[in-house]
Amino acid sequence: MTRLYGDIFRQFRGELRENEPLAGHTSLRVGGPADWWALPVDRADLLGLLAVLETNGVPCLIIGGGYNLLVRDGGFRGVVVSLERLATVERLSGDRIRAEAGVTNPQLARFCRDERLTGLEFLAMIPGTVGGALAVNAGAHGTAVMERVARLVTRTGGSLREWAATERSFGYRRHAVAPAEVIVAAEFQLEPGDANAIDKLLADYRAHRQESQRVTLPNAGSFFKNPLGEQAWRLIDRAGLRGCRVGGAQVAEAHTNFLVNAGGATARDFLELAALIKERVRETSGVELEEEVRIVGEDGE
Ligand SMILES: Cc1cc2nc3c(=O)[nH]c(=O)nc-3n(C[C@H](O)[C@H](O)[C@H](O)COP(=O)(O)OP(=O)(O)OC[C@H]3O[C@@H](n4cnc5c(N)ncnc54)[C@H](O)[C@@H]3O)c2cc1C
Repeated sequence: MTRLYGDIFRQFRGELRENEPLAGHTSLRVGGPADWWALPVDRADLLGLLAVLETNGVPCLIIGGGYNLLVRDGGFRGVVVSLERLATVERLSGDRIRAEAGVTNPQLARFCRDERLTGLEFLAMIPGTVGGALAVNAGAHGTAVMERVARLVTRTGGSLREWAATERSFGYRRHAVAPAEVIVAAEFQLEPGDANAIDKLLADYRAHRQESQRVTLPNAGSFFKNPLGEQAWRLIDRAGLRGCRVGGAQVAEAHTNFLVNAGGATARDFLELAALIKERVRETSGVELEEEVRIVGEDGE
């Protein structure tokens, strides 16, 4: 361990891994190593680590479940911080739930169901964590997670800050999270619900997924955002790209907005395939597609 990192991690109580391959932490199964991988044990540990990284000018990337992340082949120079252990979820008065950023979406949806609270059932179908969902304003079935937020707790500008949802700027798969801002927890406003009705909704959503997304190879869900009034999958299909392959990266046969790792793909394969798709869709439909997947890290050799 270099002296710099020795000093940085002196107070840290969580788990650390050096040179950690990120391919194992992303659903696309590509990406080079992070210099360091850190798992803070609790909020105080996280805040202490973030402060010392900031003071020393060390780049930091927060990772949730890695289900919306394309890490380039050169990996990440700095520290990747997983909030997996910040996983407390509790019921508050007034039909509110507070969840830390590392709670998984299915865990939160289950908790709401057990508390007979309705409004977040769609999250059960979205792989990842509450922090990741809030950061990208994940959604499905015509609704998105920020619409259910009452209060948000972030680390912003070096300190903890509480926000009313109305103070945040967000929209379709968009939430204006500042570059060094970390989502720590959120309070959700829900409504009382009937357990049978909630179970029925969950079953309907599950059936819809099984029908519309029969993709079994590693993927990150929808790769591109839907342009206004259009569907990205339709534009890609119209461009004749169903099944199109660059190296190990492929447009899924079953869903043209899903790019899959068909075996041995590199991040570069995905980036080249994405560039090809954007070019062909521009030519055939005149539409500029925008990635929904977040692209991070350094290029490989
Ligand atoms: C099969 C499949 C189906 C999917 N279906 C949907 C769907 O229906 N709807 C949908 O919206 N998405 C869908 N996705 C995409 C993905 O599940 C969501 O975007 C999810 O919210 C990503 O969460 P994550 O925890 O994995 O975030 P990650 O992929 O780990 O991170 C995503 C981004 O958020 C940032 N981030 C993560 N946590 C924090 C934090 N605490 N503070 C600040 N920034 C943070 C990361 O730095 C990164 O930029 C699907 C993916 C798959 C594989």
